[in-house]
Amino acid sequence: MRHYTIKMMNGFSTFKCLLCKHSVTTREFSSQNGSCRTQAAKTMNEHAVAAHNRSTPMSPHDAQMWHAH
Ligand SMILES: [Zn+2]
Repeated sequence: MRHYTIKMMNGFSTFKCLLCKHSVTTREFSSQNGSCRTQAAKTMNEHAVAAHNRSTPMSPHDAQMWHAH
């Protein structure tokens, strides 16, 4: 599951957190280290873990709660 949205603008991509205003852009990363988009996605995933505790998949118990009517 992704924890961010991606917007293309001015030749680079902005990755924005779904849960807060945190965002990164691909121009913040050097392509010398690999794909800028991959690095941005990794950074956003790490942000989700660090800031929102979104590291683990939803447990079956939580899934039941989400789907209960
Ligand atoms: Zn966030």
